[in-house]
Amino acid sequence: MDRPKLYKTEAIVLKHIPLGEADRILTVYTPELGKLRLVAKGVRRPTSKLGGHVEPLNHVTLSVARGQNLDIATQGQTLHSFRSVREDLRSLSWGFYIADLVDQFAPDESPNFHLFELMLRALGWLEKGTQTELLLRFFEMRLLGYTGYQPELYWCVECRRHLDPGNYAFSCSLGGVTCSSCEDRPEGSLLPASLNTMKVLRFLQREEYTAVTALHISVSLHREVERLLSTYIRYLLEREVKSASFMKVVASEMAALQLGE
Ligand SMILES: [Zn+2]
Repeated sequence: MDRPKLYKTEAIVLKHIPLGEADRILTVYTPELGKLRLVAKGVRRPTSKLGGHVEPLNHVTLSVARGQNLDIATQGQTLHSFRSVREDLRSLSWGFYIADLVDQFAPDESPNFHLFELMLRALGWLEKGTQTELLLRFFEMRLLGYTGYQPELYWCVECRRHLDPGNYAFSCSLGGVTCSSCEDRPEGSLLPASLNTMKVLRFLQREEYTAVTALHISVSLHREVERLLSTYIRYLLEREVKSASFMKVVASEMAALQLGE
């Protein structure tokens, strides 16, 4: 999309990397322009007025000047800093994972208002102190849907037969479940998708988040759902999601602390 010489945009900061002595390159997600990379000049100097506003996970308004290569963020105002998310290591690791998935799935400069709104809502739920990891599964499922990778859970991806609830297998390469007679056919590896895993996946795909928070499932069932979604995500991105390992490290450190108490 052609942008004016100067424009204002709402954005969520996904990440930043240092540039030169005092600058940074910001990756931000905006409702109307999608993912943008912007130069923020002088933000690493203590006197910078912009610096405090462009930290990862901040929801901000930015004034931007069109640049030759990358556009330049000139001013920023924090709308919401999700402070309590930052103050808790586990919430922070979840927040970084959410930002990382948006960064990796969203193409540059391709607006997707649903995805922007989903990220903002997910950070809001985290801030309210959501404890359930189902938040992450809900986020993954919605993100897959909004970016064109909605898992097919109702029709066999091979023969298109309608599937009644049962034990099936999930094909990452075909993006959905296969019926028992097609299990041997699809290319690539298949993941087991038990009756209960299928039920949870369908629930996550169909229901709103308030319904998801009321769902209570066993740890082992959650792990099955998590394994299936994260394997599919890794397959789509063709790599490991780094922030996912950070999230796991934090979780096991916290478990170790609790055992030691
Ligand atoms: Zn089939």
